[in-house]
Amino acid sequence: MKTIMVDMDDVIVCGLFQKLIEDYLGYSISLNDNVSFYLQDLLREKKEDFLYKLKNINIYDNANLVENAYDVLKRINEKYKVYIVTDYIWREIPDYAGINLKNKFDFLYRELDFLTPDRFVFSADKSIINCDIKIDDKLSNLIGASTKLLFTAYHNKSIPKEELINNNVIRVNNWKDIEKVLLEDE
Ligand SMILES: [Mg+2]
Repeated sequence: MKTIMVDMDDVIVCGLFQKLIEDYLGYSISLNDNVSFYLQDLLREKKEDFLYKLKNINIYDNANLVENAYDVLKRINEKYKVYIVTDYIWREIPDYAGINLKNKFDFLYRELDFLTPDRFVFSADKSIINCDIKIDDKLSNLIGASTKLLFTAYHNKSIPKEELINNNVIRVNNWKDIEKVLLEDE
């Protein structure tokens, strides 16, 4: 059975950081290609205060899986061996990693009841993960897979089609696209 690595943030749960930052700032932000992968960089001099406050909340508490993620992933798991692989270390606050890991674990355990906890992998370095298929919103995280699916996000929209083709990467915009590639086309 083929193995598949599925990213968590901005793939099965989306928009959490944007909402968090907007709640903190008190206004909405527009995301374009100029925005860093790390949204907290938008906060500049307020970043430290924001990160301090972040330590006291569970951002996954009221989070939901994105549309169709549950159903498609559940069916994918019947055909492939699914691993959710997620980074849990915030660069600026490494001491928050343990709390973040627990919050992430609790969310996955609660929301993905068809997966046993041994399918949850917490790693900042996804290049060590040896899976046949990888789904991630960060291009560099797809390295090593024979089938690479890039999940569309604000920070990867401008990557040219040719670059994706040259790197053997398929762009997917939602879970219906993933269903097509992994359950219908094969
Ligand atoms: Mg991600």
